[in-house]
Amino acid sequence: MSKSQRLTKQKTAILEILRSVDTHPTAEWIYQEARKEIPGLSLGTVYRNLNQLRDNGEILELNYGSSQSRFDGTAQNHYHFRCTQCGRIWDLPMPVMKTVENKAKVLKNFQIDGHRLEFYGTCEDCQQEGKAAI
Ligand code: ZN
Ligand code: MN
Repeated sequence: MSKSQRLTKQKTAILEILRSVDTHPTAEWIYQEARKEIPGLSLGTVYRNLNQLRDNGEILELNYGSSQSRFDGTAQNHYHFRCTQCGRIWDLPMPVMKTVENKAKVLKNFQIDGHRLEFYGTCEDCQQEGKAAI
């Protein structure tokens, strides 16, 4: 197998793993899964591929400051809910509000290319745990 074939195989495997889940996994998790298919794979290679896929607009990187980035195989804009207790992230199936971009546009002379919206709070599982503790 040539070098470029190997690189393509790695990238395809990483993308397939990411698109097979809706849990917005970390690079570490993707690495653990991809290793099962590609034994010689390194974590650095996984990061490099994820960065390239992000730069090409094929995936999203969800960055939360101090904690590890999470990755999203759905590149087109959609909204998220993040649990502040367990850190998990879900997609919220609601339409993207185009009108907020028009509202923002009239405020300043900025060219608006998009927007992000994230809801946060406590997920169902963590609410249950909270009740059990009382
Ligand atoms: Zn939770
Ligand atoms: Mn998502």
